[in-house]
Amino acid sequence: MKITGSIREVRELVKEWKRQGLSVGLVPTMGYLHEGHKSLIDRAVAENDRVVVSDFVNPIQFGANEDLADYPRDIEADKRLCEAAGADLIFHPAPEEMYAPDFSTYVEMQQVSERLCGKSRPTHFRGVCTVVCKLFHIVNPDQAYFGQKDAQQLAVIRRMVRDLDLDIRIVGCPIVREADGLAKSSRNTYLNEEERKAALVLSKAIFHGEALAKGGERRPDVIADEMAKIIKAEPMARIDYVELVDADTICPLQKMQGRVLAAIAVFIGKTRLIDNFILEL
Ligand code: AMP
Repeated sequence: MKITGSIREVRELVKEWKRQGLSVGLVPTMGYLHEGHKSLIDRAVAENDRVVVSDFVNPIQFGANEDLADYPRDIEADKRLCEAAGADLIFHPAPEEMYAPDFSTYVEMQQVSERLCGKSRPTHFRGVCTVVCKLFHIVNPDQAYFGQKDAQQLAVIRRMVRDLDLDIRIVGCPIVREADGLAKSSRNTYLNEEERKAALVLSKAIFHGEALAKGGERRPDVIADEMAKIIKAEPMARIDYVELVDADTICPLQKMQGRVLAAIAVFIGKTRLIDNFILEL
């Protein structure tokens, strides 16, 4: 396995693979890799001849008061995980390699990116779309792998690929959880012992909402209220949002139909965590 921070080097390698007729999968990540990331890499390795993992804490998707400086990093551990999973290349650029000092072109999306996380983090999806678009152009993959954990991000990427006619298949992969239910996240490292226990309200609310919906409850507001109740019972938790929306458009639901996304964002102390479930009706 190779690691490089050079855009030119990635291009040359991928060109050579394509010349040989090999298929290429891309797994975009911000590093500090865990089992959730590994499930994406495993799937990419199973479905492609060559796999590129990008490992880049993308500054432009963080708001001014967010955790860019504190975001955990461990490239040596990431290398070991990628190597063991059978990835072929890690792209680990310096911010200066990705963003010229006078960088000034962004991919801006309306609608899908405006609610939920887009509402609490107004410049977040502009940063995500811009970096993912750049990564798609740098790596030129046949397929790219994203986690359902970031359900709105997945919807945003699918919309970008459709709207901009990008010739890349987007593969969504299920949420990987800790044994007790907490969705795996690089940000879980921010939680102290007490907060880690309190963070269980997220998965508890998700499992309860999912059980209600699967049991036949068809009123979106009732499901959202029941989930919010569980979260509010935990004094260390503060709700950012609890919403049921259409999984593709991220628009509020009048009726439970199609692909329903129940998504939550909750602060546990200073740490903002997200979780969700999708129900196909
Ligand atoms: P991140 O490094 O947090 O930006 O995540 C990189 C990719 O891994 C995104 O597509 C995430 O949705 C995915 N991912 C992160 N955590 C999980 C998880 N617990 N289960 C599945 N995919 C995940």
